[in-house]
Formats: sequence, C-alpha cells, structure tokens
Amino acid sequence: MHYISTRGKAPKLNFEDVTLTGLGRDGGLYVPEVWPAFTQDDMAAMASLSYVDLAHKVLKPFIGDSLEDAELLEMLQATYSAPFRHDAVAPLTQLDTNDWLLELYHGPTLAFKDFALQLLGRLFDTFTARTGKTITIVGATSGDTGSAAIEATRGRDNVRIFMLHPKGRVSEVQRRQMTTIIEDNVTNIAVDGTFDDCQNMVKGLFGDLDFRDNVGLTAVNSINWARIMAQVVYYFYAGFRLGAPSREIAFSVPTGNFGDVFAGYVAKQMGLPIAKMVIATNQNDILARTLASGRYARGDVFATLSPSMDIQAASNFERILFDLVDRDSDQLQAMMDAVVNDGGFELPKKALADLRQMFAAHRSDDSATSQMMAQTLANSGILVDPHTAVGLAGAEACLSGFNGPKVTLATAHPAKFGRAVIEATGRDPQLPDHMADLFSRTEACENIACDLSVLREMILKGSSA
Ligand SMILES: *Cc1c(COP(=O)(O)O)cnc(C)c1O
Repeated sequence: MHYISTRGKAPKLNFEDVTLTGLGRDGGLYVPEVWPAFTQDDMAAMASLSYVDLAHKVLKPFIGDSLEDAELLEMLQATYSAPFRHDAVAPLTQLDTNDWLLELYHGPTLAFKDFALQLLGRLFDTFTARTGKTITIVGATSGDTGSAAIEATRGRDNVRIFMLHPKGRVSEVQRRQMTTIIEDNVTNIAVDGTFDDCQNMVKGLFGDLDFRDNVGLTAVNSINWARIMAQVVYYFYAGFRLGAPSREIAFSVPTGNFGDVFAGYVAKQMGLPIAKMVIATNQNDILARTLASGRYARGDVFATLSPSMDIQAASNFERILFDLVDRDSDQLQAMMDAVVNDGGFELPKKALADLRQMFAAHRSDDSATSQMMAQTLANSGILVDPHTAVGLAGAEACLSGFNGPKVTLATAHPAKFGRAVIEATGRDPQLPDHMADLFSRTEACENIACDLSVLREMILKGSSA
C-alpha cells in the first residue's frame, strides 16, 4: 500500500514513512492510493471476530509490508488488552429499541483518542528502533489528544514529545492528565490562545522543512494517517454486533477536527453498509454550516461545554474533499488557498450533493447539550459526557427517519468533564480507580505566548539536551 498527499506535490510513501512523517511536505494530508475493500463474504466471515482479530483484518491492507503479520498481531494484542479496562474493548450499550452507545472511553485516558494513540506509540517504538533515530512529536490538543499521546509515549527511548494546549480552555481533568506525567521526554506547554492558534503554530513548524528534518518532527494529531486508520476498526466492530453486513447501520459522531467521522467514511469505502453518518457539532459549527449552505468558511471559536470540539478549522475535511473532487490536487489546492486568502470557498455542486448523500449535520448549543445529558439519565439511567450528548442530540435530530440501528459514539468518560455533568444532571461521575488520586498529583507545565519563534527555541533547546 502506498500513500499520496492531497496536494499532489509530496513523495509517495509506504506505511512506515507515512506514520513517521505525519503532514505532507507540500502541506497536504496523506491518504491511501486506493481504498481497500471487503466483499460481502469477507465481511460475513469477519463478523464474529474479537476486537484484536478484527483489527488485524481491517488494518492489514493499510500496513502492507511495513510490519510482518505476526508482529502486527502481537502489537494489536498488546494495544487492545491491558491498556483497555473492558474485555469488549469497545462495548455497546442499548439506550432504546434502536439507539445504541458505542463506549470508546475504557482506555487509559478515558477518551476515544486512546484507540489510535496506544497503537501509534507502539508503531513509533518499532519504527524508530529500526533506524535508531530519535523523533520529536509536537502536537496541539483541545484536551484529549494531548493526554492520550503523552500516555502512549511517556518514557519511550527514541521519542520526545512537546504538547501544546490552549491555556485555561481544557477541563481540569484533561489538564492534569497531561501535566502530572513527569518524564524526561515529556514537555507540556500552555499557550495564551485558542486550540486553532496552537494548531497553527504546529503547522508553522511543519512548514519549516529544515527545522522539520533537524529534529525529526512527527505529528500525533489526526493529520497522521495511522490515527484515522486505527479508528476505522470500531465502526466495523459495532456494525457487526448489530447485524452488518446484512443490515444497514447509522452513526452519529461528535465532531471537531473531522478525524473520527472520516474514519467512518473509510469504513464505508471498505464496504461497511453505513446508511448515514451524522456530523454532530457544538456551537463551533463550521461543518454544519458547510452542509447547510455549501460554503466552507471559518468562523470565530467559542468556548463550550465540549472543549475537545472547540475547533473551527476541521483539518481532516481536506481528506474527504480530495475524494469529493475526484482526487484533483490542483482543485483542492485552490480551495485551501481560498480558505487562507478569502476565508472560505463554495463547494462544487456535485461535491455538495455527494456530501449530503452520505452525511447529515446538526449543531447543539450548550443548553441543548445539558438538556440531552439530563434526558439520557432520566430515560435510560446512563450518565454521558457533554461530547457524547452532542452526538445523541445529532442522532435525535437527523436519524428519526431511519429504522435500523443508530449508534452514537460515546467519545469520553463522563468523569472527564465532571463539572458539566454535575451541573446538567446533579450526579457526580466518579473517576475510575486507576485515576482516583489525579487531583493530588504534582503538575509540570511551561507557559508561552502564541509566538512561533519562542516555541521553536524551546524545542531546539530540548532536543540538544
Ligand atoms: C477529539 C474529540 C472529539 C472530536 O473528534 P475529531 O476526530 O476531532 O472530530 C470528540 N469528542 C471527544 C471527547 C474528543 O476527545
């Protein structure tokens, strides 16, 4: 399997190199040259596999010969056993006759990001050990990627990690899950700015090709293909539990950077019968506006009860746009230039029609989110976090006409956003035992202004040490 950049001007890479590279040297995002696909018979034979065995089948075509078969299986066993504290790995919970929650928060940092990052940490280890090179991870987080990435790379020999978060805009549990990990290879950085500011600084570093080569810069944000790939598995897993491939399934996905819902799109390309995917957003509704109006245009970023989705530049949207314009890199580049120069662009008619065929979108403000947390507790006795509540509101608004199974992705554990949950429901969700002492652990964090040169200095200093 080879990977190509959406902007068409970066070299083709194999899986190992695409994992270590992250963003294309032309500023584009890597995607597989072709989508692998399963037949109906393939899928029928996969339907009762365990999570690990299913992951092995789904990921194999993407990894090609970058890992031996046995090596891949062993890695998946290590990833999806001990770190995940539920034997089903991604259990489904029934809310109503046709409504289901896919619980993606049983990993070490209590959000779905662990599914990809626990694997990515192991891939980095294996690939850097082959070359003996050290890599430098610089990432921006709206909360959950940071803790999951730090947890997955802490103490690893050939990996240094610098994680930027927008100061004061992540929940206390999210911050502490990052800043209480005190290791020589980990630096936490609080930036005076928004998540989009942090993401722009990281993109700035990736755009500096000399710097990039000097420090072996690597991405852990969902611009890294391996992250999307790992998330494809749980769409199949949920679909198979609920009757695929002989039955259609719909999904509602709490969305920020368009990574998770794009993984659903990939599952669909590979053959999973997905009737509809709901892009569920908070007030940061760039994608809901795009579906409604046909114009992709940035807006201001608002702080909400679901901070991991406080994003107005959905990076992975570029990946689906690439397919929507029949993989025409020049057309795609022109659209991306228009975002920078004119603040946005109009989707071509056919692209918009295709997008609306596959997806619906719904925006929830904070009061609708709180209301959904209370309603879910009252009707099903289940506490959900604010991001999941945005997903449930999306399913309710957009999937009422669909009679098959509707799965909302429960992207975080309610205790990760305890304050919002208490205010909406009066219940105090408890952290799992392994995190019970989080509030008494020591924190370490650097503070910086939103200034690329300061960040660059900090990383260079860190990398010579
Ligand atoms: C990251 C995150 C999201 C958004 O996922 P994207 O892949 O950025 O769309 C939703 N919910 C939670 C809890 C998250 O951590």
